[in-house]
Amino acid sequence: MTLAEILEGYIKIKTLKNGFEIYVVKPKWISPHETETEWVLAYKKEYEAVELRIKNMPVVSLGGRSYGFERCGISDPDICYGLEKVLDRKAFFKTCDDCGVRSHTFHMEGRICNSCIPEVPGLVY
Ligand SMILES: [Zn+2]
Repeated sequence: MTLAEILEGYIKIKTLKNGFEIYVVKPKWISPHETETEWVLAYKKEYEAVELRIKNMPVVSLGGRSYGFERCGISDPDICYGLEKVLDRKAFFKTCDDCGVRSHTFHMEGRICNSCIPEVPGLVY
């Protein structure tokens, strides 16, 4: 699952007057063929007045790790930071042991993603 796919399909960023909230979708099976989706608040940032003033100054560097959010059109460093936190939360996203690709837990079977499962020897589905 690419970052763009994750951002597009599984994450919503809601802008608040004084900050933002990041929601992650939590699909669940309601019948063998039907899923219901629920958006869970995963991260919230509210700025103090003084922070808002600093925030409006030009951003020089992002710092920290970069997941490449800018390529997905997200340049706000605080939103990038929040997204990193959310992507690192194992309740929502996991990195597949086999292919190393990050996926929503809904597409994971333990530590292996759904696209790798048929290739794991010894497992029968
Ligand atoms: Zn995989």
